[in-house]
Amino acid sequence: MPELGDPSAALAAVDLIRAKRDGRTLTAAEVRWLIAAYVRGEVADEQMAAMAMAIYFRGLEPPELRAWTAAMIASGERLDLSAVGRPTVDKHSTGGVGDKVSLILAPLVAACGAAVPQLSGHGLGHTGGTLDKLEAIPGWRAALSPEEMITALRRVGCVICAAGAGLAPADRKLYALRDVTGTVESIPLIASSIMSKKIAEGTSALVLDVKVGSGAFLPDLEQARRLAQTMVMLGEEQGVRTSALLTAMNTPLGRAAGNALEVEESVAVLRGQGPADLVEVTLALAAEMLRLAGIDADPAAALAGGRALERYRAMIAAQGGDPDAPLPHAAVSAVVTAPQTGWLRRLDARAVGVAAWRLGAGRARKEDPVSAAAGVLCLAKPGDQVEAGQPVLELRTDTGSLLTGARAALAGAIEIGGEPPPPAPLVIERISSGTGPS
Ligand code: URA
Repeated sequence: MPELGDPSAALAAVDLIRAKRDGRTLTAAEVRWLIAAYVRGEVADEQMAAMAMAIYFRGLEPPELRAWTAAMIASGERLDLSAVGRPTVDKHSTGGVGDKVSLILAPLVAACGAAVPQLSGHGLGHTGGTLDKLEAIPGWRAALSPEEMITALRRVGCVICAAGAGLAPADRKLYALRDVTGTVESIPLIASSIMSKKIAEGTSALVLDVKVGSGAFLPDLEQARRLAQTMVMLGEEQGVRTSALLTAMNTPLGRAAGNALEVEESVAVLRGQGPADLVEVTLALAAEMLRLAGIDADPAAALAGGRALERYRAMIAAQGGDPDAPLPHAAVSAVVTAPQTGWLRRLDARAVGVAAWRLGAGRARKEDPVSAAAGVLCLAKPGDQVEAGQPVLELRTDTGSLLTGARAALAGAIEIGGEPPPPAPLVIERISSGTGPS
């Protein structure tokens, strides 16, 4: 490959695009060069877009994927968390509607003795971002320097903050490109994107919550399983103890979807008053994180005893937030009612997510603002009996004109029948390095 800075880079990139297009496996040296030259601007966006499309169709062989992920990590800094003084373990979710688990889990696992360095992002599309939720809290700030992050981890045991620009910059550039070229939905590209950021963050162990179902990024079980297996393999190869839980995302998790609404619900869980599905998924992930961290503790006891709530309050305060401040409240609310009497059999997660997004809780473009107060409350959940005309959803927004679009998104989202829905597990499967990639 040409030296970095060599003017023949554009031609060399064409050769690699053709090779991938025709099904040849790229060497590790070629992959390293391509990513480094792309970050330096010597390989153009249109060339990388063509490469991403070739990968979308051809995939990446395990050695190529390994090299790709390693090159993305090497494009920036890898944080050193050895000064934290406790085992570090993080969780990453592929994103779901009402998925506020991080807000509860980070302080819960910290209360059990681990350190949780959670670098997170803002949301795009129908699933909310963890930072958007926390930004609903007056005063709370997401931007911390690596030094501030380590101090917070030493003092509080957990931190949720924005990933700095120095972490896996190749992914930042490539993800934005994939977003506008129809190449997001490629398992090797998703796996390397997520894992490069998580590995660069410096955690020693990582649990992946891979969502499955209508509200998930990859709705299909087999695809979600392949993504989980691929990410577990990449993490283990980079020396990060990694496992994954496949968890259900056909129905919103808990009852709230929307930034401040999800903060309120998280605090309710920390006070021992949260919805059972949210508690179950959070405790399953906490147990998995503690197992990987080698800590023998009972997360249910930490939750019930208020120790997780105390860690949460400290985590919010450490980043300038006031955990006692009232949260923003929407000016307008409206309900969606049950069309008939019976058992609520389905409440479609994607539709609820899109409705919350249209009410103002999410953004369509990175630079859009979000409303802290907007969102959807699920007043009934599948398995509940409802009467015709009974409110099933409450829609909240700052702008009444947004209700029409939200209602349209919910057409067909509620299914009522004469029998309760069949029981469905929330935690579907656990995947560890023994399960291997397919
Ligand atoms: N989230 C990421 O961080 N990267 C992807 O490619 C998809 C989802």
